[in-house]
Formats: sequence, C-alpha cells, structure tokens
Amino acid sequence: MGAHEGKVAIVTGAASGIGRAAAERIVAEGGSVVAVDRDGDAMAWALDGARIAVLVGDVTDAELNDQAIALAVERFGRLDASVLNAGIPMSGDILTMPMDELRRVLDVNVAAVVLGIRSAVPAMRRVGGGSIVVTASTSGLAGDPGMWPYNTSKGAVVNLVRAAALDLGADAIRVNAVCPGPTETGMTSRLQALPEVHENLRRRIALQRWGQPSEIAAVISFLASADASFVTGAVVPVDGGITASTGQFLPRETAGTPPPGTPRREDTP
Ligand code: NAD
Repeated sequence: MGAHEGKVAIVTGAASGIGRAAAERIVAEGGSVVAVDRDGDAMAWALDGARIAVLVGDVTDAELNDQAIALAVERFGRLDASVLNAGIPMSGDILTMPMDELRRVLDVNVAAVVLGIRSAVPAMRRVGGGSIVVTASTSGLAGDPGMWPYNTSKGAVVNLVRAAALDLGADAIRVNAVCPGPTETGMTSRLQALPEVHENLRRRIALQRWGQPSEIAAVISFLASADASFVTGAVVPVDGGITASTGQFLPRETAGTPPPGTPRREDTP
C-alpha cells in the first residue's frame, strides 16, 4: 500500500521540476493531488490523471489558495497535505536592484507560503491534522554571491516553517521544509547550459553530481505522509552533501584521492 493511499494533497508549482515530480510521486503512492501552477500550458501533463485536478493561478493570490483547498475537498473529499513549492529565483545588485523586484520575490517565496498555510489549516483541522511541506533551498541556509534577494526569501521560509510548526503542532499539523541543492529543473536551465557553472557546482557537491527532481520529491512525499508522523519543524537538506561542507575546500572527486589543495594535518584551520 502506498504512503498516500486514500489521502489528498495540494502541490503548488506543479507544472514542472520538483513540484511536478512531487505531484507524480504522491499520485504513484496512492494519493490524489490538486496541482496548482500559474503556467496553464505546462500543466498539460496532469490533465489525464484520474486522481489529479488542475488549478491555474498565481499563489500570491489569497483567493487562489482558498480555491485550491475547495477543489481538493469538492473533488477528493478532504485535505491531508499541502506542498508549498512554487518559487522564483532572483538575483541583483544589493545597492541598485529595484525594491519592487525584492517585494516580488518575497511575495512569491514567503508571503504565498503564509497564504498556503492559512488556507490549508481549517481543512486539515476537520480531518484531525495534516502535513505542510515547504520547498526552501540550501540558499536559505547560507548566502550566495549576487543572490541576496533569493537568499533572504528562502532564509525567511526556513524560519517560518519552524515557527509555524510551534503554532500548529497542537492541531496535529506538521510543518517541515526541504532544502534542495542544485537540481536539474527549468529554474536552473540557464546555469545548466553554462558548462563551467554546471561543472563548478557539481564539484562542490559531495556526491559529485546535480540532483534530479524525483530525488527531492521522494523526501517531500515522505514528509507529507504519515510515515513522518513525529517530524515537525524540521529543515531537511536534500543537496548531495553541499551544505555538509564549510566551503573552505572542495570535496574528493574520485574515491581514495585527496583533492588538490587539501590541507595537511599540520595546517588544518
Ligand atoms: P521550476 O521553475 O521548474 O518550477 C517552479 C514552478 O513554480 C513553475 O512551474 C512555475 O510556473 C511555478 N510558479 C512560480 N511562481 C509561481 C506563482 N507565483 N504562482 C504559481 N506558480 C508559480 O523550478 P524548480 O526548481 O522545480 O522549483 C521548485 C522550488 O524549488 C522553488 O521554490 C525553488 O526555489 C526551489 N529550489 C530549486 C532548486 C533547484 O536547483 N532547481 C534548488 C533549491 C530550491
């Protein structure tokens, strides 16, 4: 029996990448899914599924969030999990980037998560609890050059998840975050197309490769399911080990050989 048998989830940002993989995984595990995305054309993949309903709209719209819950209850009878995954990248000069752009990334990556939580809680209370999973990022755990708006937004949702877990635990509603490392999706397609950047990032990952959307989805699905019944307020890196490093030295590239520049015992900082 699948981990989501008879259960109902909402997944935002479900048109592509991690959100699509999470929706597919939950359906494969026996669940029903309301797939939400602003990109209606890219939702075509979901239209044939018997246990999947599609809602097109922008997650920063409070009404859209309520409509997603209403659709889950009307079509599938209940709501057990919300995967709040829609997000956008943003980089820029800290001195000159227009404040509107900062507001937009905070709106999508942070405020929309609050809206998603608000809409989900009443329906989850009606079934005695639920699970909220937010897609944060390794970029919410430390900084990246030039990416301060994205780092700020993802850092905010990391702590939002912890605080919300404290407020919703008494309702048996769990709130957790995954922090993906570099993952091959539409969001990173520009970086993937630059061989030097792709390779540079790959070398920083302990497992020496980028992640696949299905590998992030597996952890999202676990946290969303009752298998994670005693997990809340957790921030889980799913990053091939990139955040295991202090960043001072590159990990080993081949088994058994220390990478060039590895400090000797006497000059370990
Ligand atoms: P993606 O671009 O493939 O998917 C994101 C989806 O979200 C898209 O389908 C897009 O249309 C949708 N979306 C964006 N803004 C929306 C809005 N306002 N309303 C409704 N839908 C909206 O990228 P992805 O990599 O799958 O991203 C999913 C999440 O993972 C994001 O929150 C992203 O920040 C996070 N993340 C990605 C990586 C990575 O390397 N790909 C790493 C860490 C975190």
